[in-house]
Amino acid sequence: MKSPQSSPEGKAPAETPMMAQYRERKAELPADVLLLFRLGDFYELFGEDAQTGAALLGLALTHRQGVPMCGIPVDSADGYIARLVQAGRRVAVCDQVETPKPGKLVRREITRVVSPGSLLDPASLRSKENNFCLALVAGRGRFGVAALDLGTGEFRAGELGGEAELADLLCRLRPSEIVIPEEAADSRRAQARSGELRALLEACGRSALTEHTKWAFSPEQASGLLLAHFGTKSLAAFDLTEASPALSAAGGLFHYLREELRQDLSHVRDIRPIRRSDLLVLDAVAQRTLELLSAAGRGKSLLEAIDRTLTPGGGRLLRQWLCEPLRDRSQIEARQEAIAYWMEEDRRRWELRELLANVRDLERLLARVAQGSATPREIGAIKESLKPLARIRELLPRSCRWERWRGNLEPQDDLVAEIERALVEDLPPSWRDGGIFRPGFDPALDALREAAEKGKQWLLAFERSERERTGLRSLKLRYHPVFGYLLEVARGQLSQVPADYVRRQTLANAERFTRPELQAMEEKILGAEGRAREYEKELFEALRRRLCERLPVLQRAARAVNEIDVVAALAELARERQYVRPEMVDDPVVEIAGGRHPVVEQALVGERFVPNDTYLDGRRARLAILTGPNMAGKSTYLRQIALICLLAHIGSFVPATRARIGVLDRIFTRIGASDDLASGQSTFLVEMQETANLLRHATERSLVILDEVGRGTSTFDGLSIAWAVAEELCDRNRCLTLFATHYHELAELANTRSAVRNLSMAVREIDGRAVYLRKVVEGVIDKSYGLQVARLAGLPERTIRRAAEVLSGLEAEEEDPASRAMEVRRRRRREEAEELPLFPGWDRPDAGEGDRAG
Ligand code: ADP
Ligand code: MG
Repeated sequence: MKSPQSSPEGKAPAETPMMAQYRERKAELPADVLLLFRLGDFYELFGEDAQTGAALLGLALTHRQGVPMCGIPVDSADGYIARLVQAGRRVAVCDQVETPKPGKLVRREITRVVSPGSLLDPASLRSKENNFCLALVAGRGRFGVAALDLGTGEFRAGELGGEAELADLLCRLRPSEIVIPEEAADSRRAQARSGELRALLEACGRSALTEHTKWAFSPEQASGLLLAHFGTKSLAAFDLTEASPALSAAGGLFHYLREELRQDLSHVRDIRPIRRSDLLVLDAVAQRTLELLSAAGRGKSLLEAIDRTLTPGGGRLLRQWLCEPLRDRSQIEARQEAIAYWMEEDRRRWELRELLANVRDLERLLARVAQGSATPREIGAIKESLKPLARIRELLPRSCRWERWRGNLEPQDDLVAEIERALVEDLPPSWRDGGIFRPGFDPALDALREAAEKGKQWLLAFERSERERTGLRSLKLRYHPVFGYLLEVARGQLSQVPADYVRRQTLANAERFTRPELQAMEEKILGAEGRAREYEKELFEALRRRLCERLPVLQRAARAVNEIDVVAALAELARERQYVRPEMVDDPVVEIAGGRHPVVEQALVGERFVPNDTYLDGRRARLAILTGPNMAGKSTYLRQIALICLLAHIGSFVPATRARIGVLDRIFTRIGASDDLASGQSTFLVEMQETANLLRHATERSLVILDEVGRGTSTFDGLSIAWAVAEELCDRNRCLTLFATHYHELAELANTRSAVRNLSMAVREIDGRAVYLRKVVEGVIDKSYGLQVARLAGLPERTIRRAAEVLSGLEAEEEDPASRAMEVRRRRRREEAEELPLFPGWDRPDAGEGDRAG
């Protein structure tokens, strides 16, 4: 039945055929891969692999003939494998590929290699996140990238312009593994390049880095492999050209997953481009500071705050939408329209969401079917998920705009009925013990089951009659996996055992015997059971093939369900939190009435969020300088504007009473070093690098959020830098900018530029205490309220009084309280007198406006 579960025999382990087989398989793998070798019901690790495995998994290490070994049960292997992979190791699984026969070495082959990028164990993947394996090819300042999520079949490829774009993409996709071409050992330059790449990747995050044979990335290999897989004549359909590094990356990735990791890729049906030109750019810094996907502190990320999806696939899609805001007005408006439909139709939405709640992770389940790893229970889950499709389709409106969705949501009632007819209600997690097909489904299966059942009844009758015949009251029928069915007699009654009983096994308090007719029946029963199991396996395989035939249709339906889920979830959110549909326009303008911060407003308890208005446009209000004391709400206001604009660009409704938003090309957010403690790299240098990048890239269509930039250095340096940056953005980049600062001197800019607006956070002073109104008002704040904030924070009254004394002393010393600001302004005027105007015919508006600081 089974191969013995002992270690190879003989003096030196290398001598046994099984050990030779082990070494052969091991030699097929790169040295770093751990080999799990199937022996009966266990996967065994040998030698160094065993030492590593035992240490990582906390297992007992044993020795046979001096070879260290440890094993994990086959039934719970997935969890162990996932732990090894999460500890940074790749794991090869070597299975028995034929039915074991006594006395003969079983054929064993490596069936899959699991790495971070090919981890498929549902228990160790986050359901609402993709698990991408990404390949990267560098060449002449450009990068080719390809990313594949094995679990869903999603495959994307494209070309990136440089390291910054690469960093943004990695931040967005968060691949768990990155595959790069192996560099020849003798090429110094190549090594230096791969060294740089490594440094870059390590700076970007937690992905595992794998080198794969360079040849696999060659254009010839890549195009051959991909054309054969997709069965097309040209790659143009996928936006790939012969010479593009994207093609190399895609081919290399395919080769790595298929040949080295031996993964089945039949469920990968198309390549979507990674394109940047039609997306709003959110660089890695903005993604982090806006806390889109994860929050630095205890609070929620934007994604967590807005996610009302009900299916894992919907959750993954919403995440993608958030990372890839659109720049095409008609695409945005198409999403808005869909959301508006579900928002207005409460009843339909409720019904839809009830149906969606029954849909499981269809995409991943289908991928498991394609890879042959789906269990009976998972097939059952697919059936349950397909059931509601027909009704979901009926709920869609009948207009032609929804044709794509309706077309993709082909009802699968016939398939559902077929599975329902075949499988039992309460499915076991594995097909190995059988019992998954309904009685009456297949006559041949029924016959085999009946034979086994009859045999068992015979056994019961036999036990009874033997007890009567021998008068042995303790006699019992037992089953042992090696010795089969045996008659057990207690030690006290051994003397009465009949002579025709044959002893087979001795226990502490009993002995076990057999008889010829018992042996004959055992063969019949086990034969029937074994054949029933084999037969059920075949039936199950046939059912799996039926599903595979329909895979493309089912995958399309799964993706349509994802989209419908996201759209309905955003409608639900809009209803729940009273979001409005923003009007999208072509001019760069941000006009928000009653705007709220989508995350903070949900987090406040027992306190109302105070809504605020915003107006920015390219001509009259390009740069808004926002001042106000600490904790007044400046940072919240700034981020809320960025988040509202972002939400508008994914097609979502926004937390406001009215919004008109121009299509933007980028959103930048920069936080001064002292404010950004959470990221762990709060140095002034980083702050300046980010600012430099922003000055290089911001256009008239960009929204720029600056929060206390310039704070990471001494006051005068900081003020000068903040001043120069603000000028540059306003005059040269001409982007829409909000600049929160504690340098009140910056308010002076409004005196020389008509496009500058001064805003401040309203504060009311009551009995020497500052009361924050959280309202943004026009104008400059008249004092800094530092002492009031200190009092608010609980500084002792004695210390506050002393600080007030020092302050009035300092103020008295200065001849003119505003002298510092005045000095800056005078210097500035002198410079301007020598300079030509920046734009022809551009009239400086300072003559007309009052001098607020003077
Ligand atoms: P600042 O940047 O001016 O120091 P923050 O933006 O960090 O201030 O805001 C401080 C706190 O005030 C926030 O944690 C938030 O709880 C609260 N807050 C900010 N804006 C509002 C608002 N509009 N309504 C209600 N509470 C707010
Ligand atoms: Mg702040």
